[in-house]
Amino acid sequence: MRKQIAAANWKMNLTYQEAETLLHQVVKNIPKLEDQQHVVFAVPAPYLDLAQDEIAPKYQVYTAAQNVYTKKSGAYTGEISVIMLNSLGVDHAIIGHSERREYFNESNEMLAEKVQVCLENNITPIFCCGEALQVREENKQNEYVAKQLEESLFRLPADQLQKVVIAYEPIWAIGTGKTATSEQAQEMHAHIRNHIAKTYGLNVANEISILYGGSVKGANAKEIFGQPDVDGGLVGGASLNAEEFLQIIKALK
Ligand code: PEP
Repeated sequence: MRKQIAAANWKMNLTYQEAETLLHQVVKNIPKLEDQQHVVFAVPAPYLDLAQDEIAPKYQVYTAAQNVYTKKSGAYTGEISVIMLNSLGVDHAIIGHSERREYFNESNEMLAEKVQVCLENNITPIFCCGEALQVREENKQNEYVAKQLEESLFRLPADQLQKVVIAYEPIWAIGTGKTATSEQAQEMHAHIRNHIAKTYGLNVANEISILYGGSVKGANAKEIFGQPDVDGGLVGGASLNAEEFLQIIKALK
């Protein structure tokens, strides 16, 4: 059975003290999770150790880095490596968020390297894909997302690909309050799964969790997560509010 995941992406928000309070409020109120249900906190890098401590008593709750570098160590000032994450016990990393693609010029090729270095070092990549508004208006979103998957993920052998979590995040829905309809989300998630199945077979495709991201909140999570190919969400803004994020966790299948 594939995993159902509620992942918080705090981005570059909160002070250390605010982070501590929010983690505490959420973690202590997480309901008992079913075996297939996971919660992930992608917190800013300086708070990863704090988050590791806060989640320690909880079953099926994980931390994530919001980015990693392609190299494992060396003269790369300001970057974060998978080895550092290993040494903290951090086991997930968001790879290729649209903000990293847009502001830091991360290409599909570079993201393929990041995914690879994560998998080689036991870090689960949460690989983000998704189209801009103009691509959607031209009705080219299926080809666009297929290319992102092909160029960043399709060099992996099946046993490695199965370890990747995919997050479909239409850029026009991120931080805009404009959510894709549950039909639009389901349509793209089914397209992603079918595209994987064409190359890797249905068994592999059915094992991969595909999260939806883009203005998910407490009020719409249940409907979106209820779609057959939606396996939870990657949540930005609403994950900064304890009650909202707890409601989103409760909406997992
Ligand atoms: C995100 O940052 O990945 C995201 C989906 O943000 P928001 O939920 O605020 O749209």
